[in-house]
Amino acid sequence: MNSFAATNRNFRHAVKLLGLDSKLAKSLLIPFREIKVECTIPKDDGSIHSYVGFRVQHDNARGPMKGGIRYHPEVDPDEVNALAQLMTWKTAVADVPYGGAKGGIGCSPSDLSVSELERLTRIFTQKIHDLIGIHTDIPAPDMGTNSQTMAWIFDEYSKFHGHSPAIVTGKPLDLGGSLGRDAATGRGVVFATEALLAEHGKSISGLTFAIQGFGNVGSWAADLIHGRGGKIVAISDVHGAIRKPDGIDIPALSKHKAEGGLLKDFKDADVMDQNELLVQECDVLIPCALGGVLNNENAANVRAKYIIEAANHPTDPDADEILSKKGVTILPDIYANAGGVIVSYFEWVQNIQGFQWNEEKVNVELQKHMNDAFANIKSMCKTHDCSLRMGAFTLGVNRVARATTLRGWEA
Ligand code: GLU
Repeated sequence: MNSFAATNRNFRHAVKLLGLDSKLAKSLLIPFREIKVECTIPKDDGSIHSYVGFRVQHDNARGPMKGGIRYHPEVDPDEVNALAQLMTWKTAVADVPYGGAKGGIGCSPSDLSVSELERLTRIFTQKIHDLIGIHTDIPAPDMGTNSQTMAWIFDEYSKFHGHSPAIVTGKPLDLGGSLGRDAATGRGVVFATEALLAEHGKSISGLTFAIQGFGNVGSWAADLIHGRGGKIVAISDVHGAIRKPDGIDIPALSKHKAEGGLLKDFKDADVMDQNELLVQECDVLIPCALGGVLNNENAANVRAKYIIEAANHPTDPDADEILSKKGVTILPDIYANAGGVIVSYFEWVQNIQGFQWNEEKVNVELQKHMNDAFANIKSMCKTHDCSLRMGAFTLGVNRVARATTLRGWEA
């Protein structure tokens, strides 16, 4: 099932549990605005190349729309629509005063030079600058983009609108980025994992973990889990996967990667098939990469007891059903990976205040938001006698429905 159909299915299930009016549900589902733009750039060799850029602004009932910009070959309208909708529920679950949006360009960033990426980002910003804004829609990094991409968007946007650091979050520190933003999604994943485990009388220390992805989210999550005494028995990236039943030395692996080594060439672990990672013997599985990786082909073979969805929609609805029948507890994406957008909110607040928080304040506030959201999800689970995913969806959808109803429809 594609991501759009899967997200809509979860939404409809939440609407049913909440008993929402079908007309209200329809208005919540239809995106506020969908933008599609042509981005043509001269390549370094003098040839020209055209790309398609998207920004879907899903909902703004609770505040300005917020969400990342993804550079990936699989970026298409359905995918961006699904991700924009997930952002609406995610910001509501995290209780930050935002709506949801997502954007992207269908491209393979690793095949583009830095100057080609800069030209592509600037042309994309020129095409959408009058439809985004500090109180309208605030982009952030996502897969294939980073703080440098945000610096270019900020610079290009500021040419049209004056100095505007709050137009994007996830910026470099020197341009008004927040301390703790680079680690925020991974740190939020760890706070979420701790909240779940505590409820089951467990802690990270002594448990075994398999992590899919060693990028911005996976590497921080792995490092923080390692620091808390968790054993990472398997880890992968786009090039390969490694395993070590006694636990991989994550600081040594990070050093190996920082020195230009490939994860699969790390000496102190065994190479394994990438597809095996998801069905590896472990207590906790953390998918931190692409969507749809857990599906009806592999779900029955998953051996983890807990799945923490650090990626967006890693679990197909069919897999969701198979896994819940097996008794696997799944912490859903719209909660588990909300740390990024929560600290984005702190960055935006700091930019608007013109005042910088220290890292401790950022992390303390992040943990508070993650713990409060977990408690609120659990209470929805109790009210509706449902899974954690539906607890999160009912919490998010209900908050957006309330805001929408309070604002009214009078034209
Ligand atoms: N791209 C991240 C996400 O999917 C962060 C979005 C943001 O900070 O606005 O949640």
